[in-house]
Amino acid sequence: MFSKRIRDVQPSGTVMLANKVKQMKNQGIDVISFTLGEPDFPTPEHIIDAAKQALDDGMTHYVQSTGIPPLREAVAAHVTNKNGIKAASDNILILPTKFALYGTIQALVDPGDEVIHPDPGWVSYGPMIELAGGVPVPVRMRYKDSWVWEPEDIASKVTDRTKAIILNTPSNPTGSIISADTLKAIGDIAEDHDLRIISDEIYENLVYEDTHFSIGSIERIRDRVITISGFSKSYAMTGWRVGWMVADKETVKMVNKLQQHSLTCLPAFVQMGALAALREGDECVRTMKEEFRARRNMVIPMLNEIDGVSCEMPRGAFYAFFRTDLGIPSMELADMLLQKAHVSLTPGSAFGTAGESYMRMSYAASRDELTEGIGRIARFISSLKG
Ligand code: GLU
Repeated sequence: MFSKRIRDVQPSGTVMLANKVKQMKNQGIDVISFTLGEPDFPTPEHIIDAAKQALDDGMTHYVQSTGIPPLREAVAAHVTNKNGIKAASDNILILPTKFALYGTIQALVDPGDEVIHPDPGWVSYGPMIELAGGVPVPVRMRYKDSWVWEPEDIASKVTDRTKAIILNTPSNPTGSIISADTLKAIGDIAEDHDLRIISDEIYENLVYEDTHFSIGSIERIRDRVITISGFSKSYAMTGWRVGWMVADKETVKMVNKLQQHSLTCLPAFVQMGALAALREGDECVRTMKEEFRARRNMVIPMLNEIDGVSCEMPRGAFYAFFRTDLGIPSMELADMLLQKAHVSLTPGSAFGTAGESYMRMSYAASRDELTEGIGRIARFISSLKG
């Protein structure tokens, strides 16, 4: 009855769990949710006002499938100035960030092609590759003092069938940053083997110690790189479903075909909200980032105080990826925590085999919730230890 493709693909660990938590909350159960990576702040008012104004102005019809011209222009200027990626409007496609990843993979991958991606890494890379008929090739990050993705590990997995490398900095779920030197080395691998690079930079504004470096800014490999980012995490706009891809014109054209045959275009009023976000500037982004930094500095020591838990200080994003010594499979532990302690975390195994002994906690929650939730986790773990 259903295609093999869709039968074989796993549901999204993050989205499925978030649905479950919503259901429990609707039943009146007091669950504290640290599952989804979603800023708890409201979308800034100037963005909402611009979208409302657009609705009042009658912007309720189809617009260009590529994105409205002023937003494409604004994104092109933004990535040129901020990320150092030289781009004009026709290098930009406006689409939901997740769909940009999906569409790019669809546009590049033929059945049997291999795509390298990080392990642990975001839950949807593997399934997106599979949905294109491709073969996911997870490359483990190593844990030294922090999580690192070694170019030699990547190079060792390149074969004749390799089409692309997906990278993600700052990383979901580890919060680690790929250094500029490593990115340059990955760029060399791509050049040597004629590969594309899909760079997921959705957490680019949540970098606490370093400066964000975009691999697409390396001029030599600019046309190999597809940079994907968006408004969700930086501007607390997760529900708006708006982001962008930056690529050579041909790639933009190809992914645009997919947009035309699926979404058609993004709602015009959503794009007007996004345009206001870029026009108004980064102050709101910085304010939210500082609060995330403060929460990170509060949460990580609290987790490390729990007997049997260890957590490195993440350098970016808003996730604590902590290890436990309980020896319970992370999926089982997540279920126990949800059912018995009413705290939801995403099991590390959802991010790949390298995540098995870990749990991901999104600290994009209020300080009160964080304190209460970590208290519940601590009490539950101590009850297991007896
Ligand atoms: N990217 C976010 C997360 O990892 C949202 C859910 C999803 O898209 O997987 O929690």
